[in-house]
Amino acid sequence: MEVGRHPRIRLLAYSEVEKVTGDVGNFQVTVRKKPRYVNESKCTGCGSCAEKCPTSTVDAYNMGMAKSKAIYKYFPQGIPSAYTIDAAKCRNFQEGKKCGVCAKVCQAGAIDYKQEEQIINIEVGAIILATGYELFDARRIPEYGYGRLPNVVTAMEFERFLSASGPTHGHVYRPSDLSVKESLPELEKAVQKGLRELEKFEKPSEMSSAEFIKKYDGGELTGEQYDNWAKAYKLFVPVMEKLEGASQKVESIETVHRLAFIQCVGSRDMRYNKYCSGFCCMHSIKEALIAREHDPTAEIYIFAMDIRAVGKGFEEYHNRAANAGITFVRSRVAEVSEKADHSPVLLFEDTKSREVRSLEVDLVVLATACEPGPAALKFSKMLGISLTDFGFYQTRTIPALDTSRPGVFACGCAQGPMDIPESVAQASSAAARAAQALAGPEATRLAS
Ligand SMILES: Cc1cc2nc3c(=O)[nH]c(=O)nc-3n(C[C@H](O)[C@H](O)[C@H](O)COP(=O)(O)OP(=O)(O)OC[C@H]3O[C@@H](n4cnc5c(N)ncnc54)[C@H](O)[C@@H]3O)c2cc1C
Ligand code: SF4
Ligand code: SF4
Repeated sequence: MEVGRHPRIRLLAYSEVEKVTGDVGNFQVTVRKKPRYVNESKCTGCGSCAEKCPTSTVDAYNMGMAKSKAIYKYFPQGIPSAYTIDAAKCRNFQEGKKCGVCAKVCQAGAIDYKQEEQIINIEVGAIILATGYELFDARRIPEYGYGRLPNVVTAMEFERFLSASGPTHGHVYRPSDLSVKESLPELEKAVQKGLRELEKFEKPSEMSSAEFIKKYDGGELTGEQYDNWAKAYKLFVPVMEKLEGASQKVESIETVHRLAFIQCVGSRDMRYNKYCSGFCCMHSIKEALIAREHDPTAEIYIFAMDIRAVGKGFEEYHNRAANAGITFVRSRVAEVSEKADHSPVLLFEDTKSREVRSLEVDLVVLATACEPGPAALKFSKMLGISLTDFGFYQTRTIPALDTSRPGVFACGCAQGPMDIPESVAQASSAAARAAQALAGPEATRLAS
């Protein structure tokens, strides 16, 4: 927010750096600003456009677990607070289709379907790379069943479940139950269609389909007309049964009560990333404590080889979780399977008791690794800077945020896994280093 309002900070959102030339004190940067098809300075962020937009899309911010519109704001607190049209989904941009609803309802006149991308050239004295991280794709560990077992989710998805502005408004349900709930409108539509079809036969013969089928099966009624009726009825019955089953299921849906977190998914694993992702032990403890606040009687397990609570007050937080009844199991889970009702079952060795055991829960949460994103490779090539063996930006030991190129600094998870306070502290340090670079070689030398 502060950055967005600062008179001396120019924010180029929805933009990509294309090219960098020059050197410390005098870099020329070419930026491609993508078209939003919404004028950023006119859009008030009121949301009338999205309310009326007829095109539904997947909500990427809610990890695909909610619906969005073809005109959307990625997340509520985004800066600038402007909406964006997804041209790949918007009807106006699809051949032969017309819409224009958002332009009609926008009181600010902010919609601009003809907006084009802009190339912006800027001159800067220093560059700070704060391109962050990507999460490990849990599908790469097939034995945990992510993407195959509906009730195995990632910690990021679980964050969205816990959030009041998330897809379930802060209530944690099993995704398998939610999909049954979501299937209801379609099933209801199919049942209504089937009923209309049967009515065509029932009305003229003044007989219900249930009475008819008894007579038809008993051989009392024959002929093409009755064969068609029987066919329509036999197609209708399973759809009706499915709707009844789904409705019963939905009535008995409860929030998640048994919860298991699996740590080091893709981290500290010779097959994927050897390093520790640093923040996942603490975010799992945080998520477990929030889940416990939602349901004080919940059974919560955290499966970890060890808990890395490295930071001021972190060990106390870990102890608080243990005292709140959260069970820490020292183990690397071998496999997750599921029961017929989609309840996940964990198979693991409890390394303390040296027993191989299994545990049935309602939901499994995977603490996936922090990996360097595609930007790391892109900017290492563009700027000619080194990466670490793990693919994060290589920085010097002292001064800690300097990359291998003078005037280019890296901070936050782009430099390696770290939590928010450390990323923010690094960002301040990087800004200070950049200011020294701008002050000239002497200031940089003295500070080094
Ligand atoms: C499930 C989960 C829960 C967490 N909970 C906590 C918590 O409670 N407390 C805590 O301290 N930490 C938590 N963390 C860790 C936290 O997410 C990181 O510490 C933090 O996000 C790092 O900030 P960053 O700015 O370095 O990177 P990021 O947050 O990844 O930000 C990088 C930004 O750069 C942008 N970007 C990338 N490439 C480009 C490009 N080419 N051009 C323009 N922009 C680009 C990205 O879109 C992104 O907005 C959690 C992590 C996870 C996975
Ligand atoms: S033109 Fe229509 S489909 Fe496209 S964003 Fe506007 S309202 Fe949605
Ligand atoms: S922080 Fe914890 S869960 Fe994350 S990689 Fe390190 S040990 Fe594993």
